[in-house]
Amino acid sequence: MSSTFRDIPSVEAVLSELRDNGSWPHALAVEAARTAIEHAREAVRAGEAAPDVAAISAEAGAILQELARPSLRRVVNATGVILQTNLGRAPLSERAMTAMGEAARDYTNLEFDVEGGSRGSRHEHVRDLLRRTTGADDGLAVNNNAAALLMALHVFAQGREVIVSRGEAVEIGGRFRIPDVLRESGARLVEVGTTNRTYVEDYANAITEDTAAILRVHRSNFQVTGFTARPELGELAALAREHGILLLDDLGSGCLVETADYGIEHEPTVRESLDGGAELTLFSGDKLLGGPQAGLIVGRGELVETLRRHPLARALRVDKLTIAALNATLMAYVSGTEREEIPVWSMLALEREQLEPRARVWAEAGGGRVVESRSMIGGGSAPGAGRPTWCAALGAERGAEWLAGALREADPAIIARVEAGETLLDPRTVAERDDGHVSATITALLGR
Ligand SMILES: *Cc1c(COP(=O)(O)O)cnc(C)c1O
Repeated sequence: MSSTFRDIPSVEAVLSELRDNGSWPHALAVEAARTAIEHAREAVRAGEAAPDVAAISAEAGAILQELARPSLRRVVNATGVILQTNLGRAPLSERAMTAMGEAARDYTNLEFDVEGGSRGSRHEHVRDLLRRTTGADDGLAVNNNAAALLMALHVFAQGREVIVSRGEAVEIGGRFRIPDVLRESGARLVEVGTTNRTYVEDYANAITEDTAAILRVHRSNFQVTGFTARPELGELAALAREHGILLLDDLGSGCLVETADYGIEHEPTVRESLDGGAELTLFSGDKLLGGPQAGLIVGRGELVETLRRHPLARALRVDKLTIAALNATLMAYVSGTEREEIPVWSMLALEREQLEPRARVWAEAGGGRVVESRSMIGGGSAPGAGRPTWCAALGAERGAEWLAGALREADPAIIARVEAGETLLDPRTVAERDDGHVSATITALLGR
């Protein structure tokens, strides 16, 4: 049977069928109907039979459903990587979400001094908590840590030299490269030392009249092992003081607590950086801090004040939702309840004995087994660190990649990882409220 373009239903016919299946804005429905009809034409051109009106309107309906689906959706992170940048890094605490919700729903005193009835500053809201949690003189929040670094370099080193160790002039991820940020800030990079070894003399020899600062960058997403050398922060601080130049410390994750208490290797804390003599310490809000995306700059009072008054502070400022979430997150540290409250720490604190039964339920649902593995911190924190965990390891006739893809088609999508021909699901990064969804999806895909 040969079919012709005349067998393809009209836009009107498709629309009338669509109308019986829900109410869509007319313009969107017409667009979807036209797209589906165009696909039918292509099929006829390729020598296939023309789809009927039901099939075409079903496709138009699917196009509309897709349009109505938010682009940003929640997913279930079963990768075991706690700070997955591609999955949005740190999930927020209940306290942070409540604070964000309230700030979102209502008006706030964002830049208003309620007692005095006069204009206030949004920066005031985070200042005291940053001081209290880090011991710094002063603190400021901007859009993210990349912005914090760009701003600090622009304000304090534009047109001048900044000394960085060759082993630290690195790419942090997402195309964020220290040399590029330096160039964009208007500062000139002076690289010293070698990839594996840099001594304090290397810095000292590079200091000229044009030097504005020494920048230290935490090697947050890689390790240099073996024949290595790197000066202590204190040595660099002494050198910087002697020459009247600044010492900036980009910590990346910027931990406020001792990671060794969680069974992972020590990650430098913000306090250590400040005590070590950094004049400004920069870190992210959504890495190990466990809060919203933000770049936090803490350190010497007059330097922070200079940044706060700079026009870039306006361009890079955080919004009320970020301030609300950041304050709530910092409050958990003040209360000493971060382990219970902040998901990043709660997840890290889980012992593998607690994870084994959850992994076992998933493994049994899919006829797989449980295997010992490691959960990683990720997000450019503690590159070597990880915590022992149990994963469900599933095999599928059609292959591990097929299974990982099928899990991603669930709603919400379940993100697993593939290792040595098996699909692994780590319960550490899955909220317990999602355990049932994971089991049900595995059963639907593999259950027998
Ligand atoms: C992650 C990271 C950054 C960038 O921080 P964002 O908050 O993602 O902008 C900068 N420096 C270091 C050392 C990092 O680890």
